Order: sequence, then structure tokens, then C-alpha cells
Amino acid sequence: MGEYQKIEMKKKKNIVLIAHDNKKHDLLEWAKFNKELLLEHTLSATGTTGQLLEGALGIKIARLKSGPLGGDLQIGARIAEGLVDCVIFFWDPLEPQPHDPDVKALLRIAVVWNIPVACNRSSADFMISSSLMNGAYERLVPDYSSYLQRPAP
Ligand code: PGA
Repeated sequence: MGEYQKIEMKKKKNIVLIAHDNKKHDLLEWAKFNKELLLEHTLSATGTTGQLLEGALGIKIARLKSGPLGGDLQIGARIAEGLVDCVIFFWDPLEPQPHDPDVKALLRIAVVWNIPVACNRSSADFMISSSLMNGAYERLVPDYSSYLQRPAP
């Protein structure tokens, strides 16, 4: 088994919310239902999703750029910087997106850093109601030092 490093996630999580257009209604309903639980954490979102969430929840949310304009990539960069604990991303499985490569990049980097990602309502329900959301958690991330020390071609 390879080596792992532990990354601490604090009790108060940095949660990112994103929804493609056909899924925004779902996310807003879900967020309203779970407002009290969500407010225990620090929320951020892609541009349009964030704007809608602010209206639905009546709170201020850190908003990045709209997804197709770079918001997904901003979130990916934040994951790489260790600034994101959980991602709730209701992506649309039935419609091609102009920013499909960015969506893939975001989902990929979340796996690289072992970030929990909920891609639909049931997984978001399981995530938000997990007892692990109410305390610190040590996330295991593969130790990439051997990769970094590989002989360059
Ligand atoms: P939006 O972006 O919240 O700005 O609509 C979502 C996305 O398509 O990634």
C-alpha cells in the first residue's frame, strides 16, 4: 500500500456549491431544506448558482465566476490550494456543456485530493447528514512525493 499524508478538515467546513442550469432548481430546493445545517459551514459557489442561493437562503455567499467563464477552474485551483473541504456539484448528465473540459478538470482534481463530492440530491443528503460534518476529520491523501521525485524524461 502506498503512503498517505493526512490533511485536517476542521469542524467548520468550506463547502462549494455548483449546479448546471437544469439542476439549479434541485440545488435551491435542497439548500433551502438544509439551510440550518449549511449555515454551520462556510459556503461559496459559482457565479449564477451563488446568486440564486443568496436569494433563496437570504445570506451572503462568496461567489466565484460563472462556471463556463472559469468558475469551475477557480474551484479546482482552490481544491489544489487546500481551501475546499466538500463539493456539492449537481451536474447535468443529459446535456453537453460548453465547459465540459472544465467540469472534468474539477471532478478530477477533487479525486486527486480526496475531496468528498456529491453529484446529486441523495448523495448531498448523505453528505450533509453525516456525523463527519460535525467534527474535525483527517483526510487521507496519497503522498505524491515519489511522483514529484520521478526521473524527468
Ligand atoms: P453557474 O455555473 O453557477 O455560474 O451557472 C455553474 C457551472 O456551469 O459550472
